Amino acid sequence: MKRVIVLGATGSIGTSVLEVLRAHAEEFRVTGLAAARPGGELAALAREFPEAAVAVADDPEHALQARLAASPRSGAVLTGPEAALDLVRGGGADICVAGISGTAGLLPAFAAAEKGMRILLANKEVLVSAGGLFNAAARAGGAEVLPLDSEHAALWQCLDGRDRAAVAKIWITASGGPFRTWTREQMAAARPADALKHPKWRMGAKISVDSATLANKALEVIEAHQFFGFPPESIGILVHPQSVVHGIVEFADGGQLAHMGVCDMRQPVRSMLLHPERRAGALPGLDLASIGRLDFEAPDYGRFPLLALGLEACRRGGGGTALYNAANEAAVALFLEGKLSFPGIADAVAFAMRGCAPPEPSSLADVAALHAEGARKVREFAIAQPHFS
Ligand code: MG
Repeated sequence: MKRVIVLGATGSIGTSVLEVLRAHAEEFRVTGLAAARPGGELAALAREFPEAAVAVADDPEHALQARLAASPRSGAVLTGPEAALDLVRGGGADICVAGISGTAGLLPAFAAAEKGMRILLANKEVLVSAGGLFNAAARAGGAEVLPLDSEHAALWQCLDGRDRAAVAKIWITASGGPFRTWTREQMAAARPADALKHPKWRMGAKISVDSATLANKALEVIEAHQFFGFPPESIGILVHPQSVVHGIVEFADGGQLAHMGVCDMRQPVRSMLLHPERRAGALPGLDLASIGRLDFEAPDYGRFPLLALGLEACRRGGGGTALYNAANEAAVALFLEGKLSFPGIADAVAFAMRGCAPPEPSSLADVAALHAEGARKVREFAIAQPHFS
């Protein structure tokens, strides 16, 4: 029986993971659940898994304890900003699903690395902000890290057991997001509701906006660079609106291996949770005949400046990717609050990064300082904007 902690249990990744864990209850036991807020969904999970410890980051009214007061549970309830970290440090798990998005997911993922767990990593900020430190922590702790981003899970499966020296290039696909065919003028007037309408994937607000700006692809290139160790110039991006091909590995002899699958996170989740086995499941198969055609195009760096900015940070290396990530996270939050325009997200990140070439962080305190700096500069930019009020 493998014991599993699910961080971000009520998010889109956590929901997919729990569905797979329920379907294989004979071999997985949920021992920990963490979420940001004590909504009814978390309380329902806490009742469903009465032995699991439950961690909630923000619960000033002790709403979760109140909701669970009458439930026959043996699992602990942890609250506060360090609750997810305490949950992982408490151990008692073989597998940790790192599904908390944003910088909030950083410390729990490091704790899982130090504990030597098998980590299913969905949080890309861990590798973007602190990739060198995280890889070192995972090596030192004996942790095995598997990717839970669909593109990286695809690449991982194409690379599995193959000679890395024979790889010429890896390709990450992008749906192109909701604004793939929009003009600059249309994008200038885009509202949060427009940016949240992703054509292919149902995801949280932050990553949906990142898909609209294509910052998500820049983050994924940085993630792939850190995860697989290929240099930035060997990682390409293809816009592929059907989102059938998730990743391609191009070998030195010109041959390419592509991973295809339905647009459903349960597919990569199943592959990674059950690895190295491949088992039949409840997911519908991919029906290529009804899809009919697959299109590919080069990304438009002019209309999507956040993509270019992120790739530049990746090429330059050092702490620039952490700064990019922090500035983007802060700018997206302001856009969602109506305090920045859609093009303002890229302008704010460009402002935050201008003239900055921070060295590679050598500690998590350095990462935190870069995060604070990125957020501070974005705020400085935003308060000078007409949208800010
Ligand atoms: Mg992805």
